[in-house]
Amino acid sequence: MTTQETLFSKIIRKEIPADIVYEDDLALAFRDINPQAPVHILVIPKKPIPKLADAESGDQDLMGHLLLTVKRVAEQEGLSNGYRVAINTGNDGGQTVHHLHLHILGGRQMNWPPG
Ligand code: AMP
Repeated sequence: MTTQETLFSKIIRKEIPADIVYEDDLALAFRDINPQAPVHILVIPKKPIPKLADAESGDQDLMGHLLLTVKRVAEQEGLSNGYRVAINTGNDGGQTVHHLHLHILGGRQMNWPPG
């Protein structure tokens, strides 16, 4: 797996600013700079996994932690009426930043299919 530096690595190291809403040893959550919903937050692992397809069996606990972090952040944001969790993966998935991230979208009714 080749790991390239992305701007999310710089956000993790606090070298560029971000509106961070949650942080622990393994994960970071911050508001998307171009929000697609009233609440749009990205949850990322501090480990620079480029995309979901690059996750390995040794990342099992980390992947579970990311999902539970989504739940925790959604509660923190008051999304009691529900929310969308999206992971864009690779070119066809529409991924633009090559550091695994989980989108939390909420505060409005989501549409399906997402397009
Ligand atoms: P994706 O298209 O799934 O790779 O999503 C990448 C997301 O990162 C997009 O929703 C962007 O708006 C967001 N993004 C890009 N740069 C930043 C930044 N500096 N701070 C916060 N979000 C960003």
